[in-house]
Amino acid sequence: MNTDTQPVKKKRRASLCVGCGGQIHDQFILRVAPDLEWHASCLKCADCSQYLDETCTCFVREGKTYCKRDYVR
Ligand SMILES: [Zn+2]
Ligand SMILES: [Zn+2]
Repeated sequence: MNTDTQPVKKKRRASLCVGCGGQIHDQFILRVAPDLEWHASCLKCADCSQYLDETCTCFVREGKTYCKRDYVR
């Protein structure tokens, strides 16, 4: 049997930012339930563009993120 010894590149698990689609290499990733990950600089309210971070609650509706104020409207 001919065994192929060609090296295989293993994919390192990289997080993709939901906001811009790019890989996240930042020290801090903002993770939003259930399984969305964002650059800290990409996570904004879709309505008022306020930056969202761990100090405020972030809400997701139809793949867009909102601050609490705009979400409950
Ligand atoms: Zn991003
Ligand atoms: Zn907002």
